[in-house]
Amino acid sequence: MDEKYFPEVIEKKWQQRWDEGRVFEVSNDDPRPKFYCLEMLPYPSGFLHMGHVRNYSIGDALAWYKRLQGFKVLHPIGWDSFGQPAEQAAIKRGVNPRAWTEEHIAHMRGQLKHLGISYDWSREIAAHRPDYYKWDQWFFLKMFERGLAYKKQSPVNWCPKEGTVLSNEQSSGGVCWRCGAAVEKRDLEQWFLRITEYAEQLVGQIEQIEATWPEKVLKRQRDWVGRSEGAYIDYAVKDSDKKIRVFTTRIDTIFGATAIILAPDHPLIAELLEHSALKSDVQKFAEKVAAARARRADPTEEEVKEGLNTGVLAINPFGGENIPVWVANYVLMDYGTGAVMSVPAHDERDFEFAQKYSLPIRQVIAPVSHGQPAAEPVSKTGTDQSAEMHRAFTDYGVLINSGEWGGKLSQMAIHEMAQYAEQHKFGGGAVTYRLRDWGVSRQRFWGAPVPIINCEHCGAVAVPYEDLPVVLPETAEFTGSGQSPLAGVAEFVNTTCPKCKRPARRETDTMDTFVDSSWYFFRYCDPSNDSAPFDPAIAAQWTPVDQYIGGDSHA
Ligand SMILES: [Zn+2]
Ligand SMILES: [Zn+2]
Repeated sequence: MDEKYFPEVIEKKWQQRWDEGRVFEVSNDDPRPKFYCLEMLPYPSGFLHMGHVRNYSIGDALAWYKRLQGFKVLHPIGWDSFGQPAEQAAIKRGVNPRAWTEEHIAHMRGQLKHLGISYDWSREIAAHRPDYYKWDQWFFLKMFERGLAYKKQSPVNWCPKEGTVLSNEQSSGGVCWRCGAAVEKRDLEQWFLRITEYAEQLVGQIEQIEATWPEKVLKRQRDWVGRSEGAYIDYAVKDSDKKIRVFTTRIDTIFGATAIILAPDHPLIAELLEHSALKSDVQKFAEKVAAARARRADPTEEEVKEGLNTGVLAINPFGGENIPVWVANYVLMDYGTGAVMSVPAHDERDFEFAQKYSLPIRQVIAPVSHGQPAAEPVSKTGTDQSAEMHRAFTDYGVLINSGEWGGKLSQMAIHEMAQYAEQHKFGGGAVTYRLRDWGVSRQRFWGAPVPIINCEHCGAVAVPYEDLPVVLPETAEFTGSGQSPLAGVAEFVNTTCPKCKRPARRETDTMDTFVDSSWYFFRYCDPSNDSAPFDPAIAAQWTPVDQYIGGDSHA
């Protein structure tokens, strides 16, 4: 035996043996206990970088360890091969995205083999191949049938430089994740997946994995769904039969509400102000806010609070007090009901707003002080405390200045007041979520085509299952203009409506690549199935994944 280690001699010999003997291939029928070692799906950028080597050698060590312990180990790899870099190469250098992608995959596969990583290469998958994206389309149609995939006009994050739609994640901080351009807002007809339908499950079922997942991943999941329990309350409008519905997580502070604030684009405003002299002022304010919002790149960026009194009064169903109705830029139509009660004493944003516009500030929650039967109210009169309070008190505490509810603890009052509202038919308990439906439309070539045919007579019609996959054309003209390059491929676009058989146009949007990477770990279990994305019985044998190695943001 040589004293020195010559990798080019030893590794070549063994890698060849492994390859010829197909020693890392694993059979679904193997009776030994299973271990599923999953690594993140790489994008075929062209070359492995050290981050890949780090990630994939961790997985390799684990796969070896488990094999030696007697497990049958599923250790697969594939390619997240749709996406922008191939399309950008096509726009900039005129290369064919398919050829570009296949070339990069071949090179990186070679690099992984040189590293000696013990993959089952018989299960290799690639998102850009029709035998994979056929099933993206199949899933889309299943969701379309159930009303879970739908189309709507919607403002999107838009990269002006690349002419493409970006997800919120891809435009965080108001800049395009790829090219760094300032992100803009645009209105486009888009396809959405109704993931909000699953909001409750997405947080409710976290309990089942709590014991084994890192706390920061669980927290991220909870924050993403953003479930908040609260109540809705209908405020009657004075001298009108209209009602304004607000959502609040702090019904216990309702005696401290000194205004109702509507989103400037709230549909009720036109009706409320029908005969009002302030109508055009409010309209102008709404237009100003909409314009500022369109210019603002980062939706999470704090804006200067601005509002306008509409002159309308609403009646607080607790206590019967009349309070003014305002519009303000910090209330959003797409969260809750688009209307909030402003409680400056106990909400920071409302406090800031009240100070700016000299709205009364009324404390109705006091800190719980132990050793006393109940906290001493700061002010017994319940009038304005603008002079005494220097910031909002946002914690739970004990209710003061709250009529018959005074002396109760917040948690108790939240429950009982919602119940009271329900009994008296002006409100009740409710849950809202921050989670929004997933916009999956992309105006790009290099993605899975949305399997829909747009017919003038029948509307959006599903491509029949037997016609899947809707295959991407070989190539297109890449102008980088922002319109899907597929729109310029006549053979692709012009088709027949499956329902009425009249001429119709194929949808030219393709799907977000996150659609590809949201189910690939099931496909590895049954990668050559040509009648279903995977056999559920086979997938059940291998899943859940025993160890995932990749960024924790993928969770
Ligand atoms: Zn960009
Ligand atoms: Zn038709």
